[in-house]
Amino acid sequence: MALWKFVNLNKHGNFRTRIIHSETSALTIGQGFGDFVGASRFHYKSRTPYHGLMTSPVDGKKYLTPDWIVVVPETTLEDIVHIPVVKVEIPKEKNEWMFESSSSPGLFYKVNQSGDNYKCNCPGVWRAKDGQCRHMKEVMQELNIK
Ligand SMILES: [Zn+2]
Repeated sequence: MALWKFVNLNKHGNFRTRIIHSETSALTIGQGFGDFVGASRFHYKSRTPYHGLMTSPVDGKKYLTPDWIVVVPETTLEDIVHIPVVKVEIPKEKNEWMFESSSSPGLFYKVNQSGDNYKCNCPGVWRAKDGQCRHMKEVMQELNIK
């Protein structure tokens, strides 16, 4: 009927958390559970709304699929909630600098650094005798490279 996250103190005085099942929506605590600390309704979390429950013929344990989390045998689909995975965007390039063009505001030039190689997509690269535009020089200065 309901799953509970049950916390108590074991004989060593350490917190012990376990998931227990109750036939009713109220929690009844049996004997031998040690000093009671707290209990709250518990739901297993699934990454996908298309989850299911399956008892493995290999080990006889009940699993939440497709996450393959072992659940207590009494678990029903009502004990599972769908928590979508939040995607975090990680910048792909660390060695990249953007410079706004002074002659064309809103236009950005990009400097890439890869080892000792610098690249810039501005037209200044072609004009510079040493092949280094002011953007590349600025990046090198920032990185303390002469
Ligand atoms: Zn440049």
